[in-house]
Amino acid sequence: MNTPVTPEQQAEIDNLRESPRQTLRVISEGMEQHLYTAHPVLDHGFVRVVDYMGDDAAICQAARVSYGRGTKSVQNDEGLIRYLMRHWHSTPFEMCEVKLHVKLPVFVARQWIRHRTANVNEYSARYSILDREFYIPAPENLAAQSSVNKQGRSEVLEGDEAARVLDLLRQDAMRSYDHYEDMLSQDGQQGLARELARMNLPANIYTQWYWKVDLHNLFHFLRLRADAHAQYEIRAYADALCDIVADWVPAAFGAFRDYRMDAVSLSAGAVSVLKRRLAGETVAQEDSGMSMREWREFQEIWG
Ligand SMILES: Cc1cc2nc3c(=O)[nH]c(=O)nc-3n(C[C@H](O)[C@H](O)[C@H](O)COP(=O)(O)OP(=O)(O)OC[C@H]3O[C@@H](n4cnc5c(N)ncnc54)[C@H](O)[C@@H]3O)c2cc1C
Repeated sequence: MNTPVTPEQQAEIDNLRESPRQTLRVISEGMEQHLYTAHPVLDHGFVRVVDYMGDDAAICQAARVSYGRGTKSVQNDEGLIRYLMRHWHSTPFEMCEVKLHVKLPVFVARQWIRHRTANVNEYSARYSILDREFYIPAPENLAAQSSVNKQGRSEVLEGDEAARVLDLLRQDAMRSYDHYEDMLSQDGQQGLARELARMNLPANIYTQWYWKVDLHNLFHFLRLRADAHAQYEIRAYADALCDIVADWVPAAFGAFRDYRMDAVSLSAGAVSVLKRRLAGETVAQEDSGMSMREWREFQEIWG
């Protein structure tokens, strides 16, 4: 994997990590380990925490509307956090926030930006020239179109076909970037404006943004994007974020994993089928009241 930051950028990050400051504010020891560090994702991307607010105790503090830390005991706090998560009492989770710096391919950014409950500021390709950095999938992620899921992929491409696809991706990326540079060039010509020249670049070029979100909405993002149904490339970012959030707010993340991520929700029809099965009845799709697709999804979970 290539290093996603240049030596100069790394020096800036190191400099920030070498200058600790005293504060009266709440800190999360787990999150302090991540602060400023760039965690590599895909071939040139990263996520890094630029700032954060709150910890597990801050969730309890808000829930109890407390004057002090709001902490009773770690066990007590964990119980409260699990209760809040279980009962969709979400506002205390909004009291924690995180500001991230993310470097990601444009086609991943298009999926990510759909999550509207965050604050975003993106690198301006009107103002600056984009770097020659393109996402080229690792061979194990170069897969064929799925025949059962129109929004998915199936077997990994192999041999000549894989080599040909990789070749096309690399050649097209390089060629369009060469033309981008040519169009911008003022060498004996006026040079096309950056805001126009960029339209020639493919969607696998990398962009960057600052993304600030509260924990409740971050959980919603992770629930959708760290899921098997999400495209691998955005899932890679969501997985990296899960590791960070688990260190930041371990109790809240544990509750989120149990009650959201690894949980399943049942329709009234599914509950009825399960009850009939527990009573000893054999239920088939035809007399379940479920569509074929719903039945298939039900079977995947309950067999
Ligand atoms: C597997 C997968 C496949 C997808 N496929 C497609 C696709 O084919 N085409 C496509 O266009 N999108 C697709 N999406 C994007 C999806 O439809 C959502 O836009 C995206 O997941 C963001 O979710 P959200 O709106 O809940 O998040 P947020 O924008 O963060 O909103 C969080 C919650 O806030 C509330 N909210 C926010 N803004 C408003 C508002 N203006 N009005 C009312 N309520 C609001 C809603 O309750 C919402 O659930 C896909 C997403 C996934 C995970």
